[in-house]
Amino acid sequence: MDLGIKGKRALVCASSKGLGRGCAEALAAEGVSLVMNARGAEALEATAQAIRDAHGVEVITVAADITTEEGRAEVLEAAGQVDILVTNAGGPPPGMWPDWTRDDFIKALDANMLTPIALMQATLPGMMERGWGRVVNITSQSVKSPIGVLGLSNSARTGLTGFVAGTARQVCDKGVIINNLLPGIHDTDRAKSLDTGVSEQQGISIDEAKAQRCATIPVHRYGTRDEFGATCAFLCSQHVGFMVGQNILLDGGALPYTL
Ligand code: NAP
Repeated sequence: MDLGIKGKRALVCASSKGLGRGCAEALAAEGVSLVMNARGAEALEATAQAIRDAHGVEVITVAADITTEEGRAEVLEAAGQVDILVTNAGGPPPGMWPDWTRDDFIKALDANMLTPIALMQATLPGMMERGWGRVVNITSQSVKSPIGVLGLSNSARTGLTGFVAGTARQVCDKGVIINNLLPGIHDTDRAKSLDTGVSEQQGISIDEAKAQRCATIPVHRYGTRDEFGATCAFLCSQHVGFMVGQNILLDGGALPYTL
């Protein structure tokens, strides 16, 4: 299927590795030029070069912390006019509900709610003026079903989901489509660090911890960044003009819901 986005320009945040990288690669494969971001310059440049080599698209890199005002200003200035925005950042650390302080919550809200909102506020007006735009926010399955130890993530991402539910319906008549993509467990560094946490907590090996978590997923494996990226690219395509403010779950069937 031709996604109809060749020649568009995308800003993909937090994309040197993992799910963000999957989204950047899939968009580049469709002929979309990229502005990529992560904090670590070395991995970011290596990924960008691999994408240039594989797909021949222009890739601009900005090494900055997207969760800070200065970082966002730097990224947005380098990005200029963007047609497609993919928001992403690292997730908050695990913990237990009685221990989180106000500062912990503010940090999580800044990273996983207020940062994507600020990026949308900066880019939506231009998209609306030009009559076309696509936004995909990488959130989490935790907005549909809470993960106890990830209460900071549950809280911040649900707040973002509420903002998107209202805003998506206010911009879609200008050709701007916003949806959220909800990862279940995917095989990335983040998943490895959560496997390590389970292994330490239960005194089992990392492989055993992974096998235990895979057993909770009906497909009996973790998702891949390629599968995630392909879904993201579709959500950025010409074909989603009638899909507004949805929360698309990619979890291998893990959440046992009928709807
Ligand atoms: P990952 O493999 O750890 O990759 C994170 C990427 O984001 C890296 O490129 C990292 O590079 C960059 N990054 C992190 N913090 C950043 C910041 N403040 N500013 C700019 N770039 C930043 O993580 P992932 O698994 O792809 O997860 C992506 C998001 O999906 C996270 O929010 C995670 O919580 C969520 N999620 C993941 C899963 C899963 O199973 N993988 C499931 C549910 C939700 P630098 O470190 O160099 O900045």
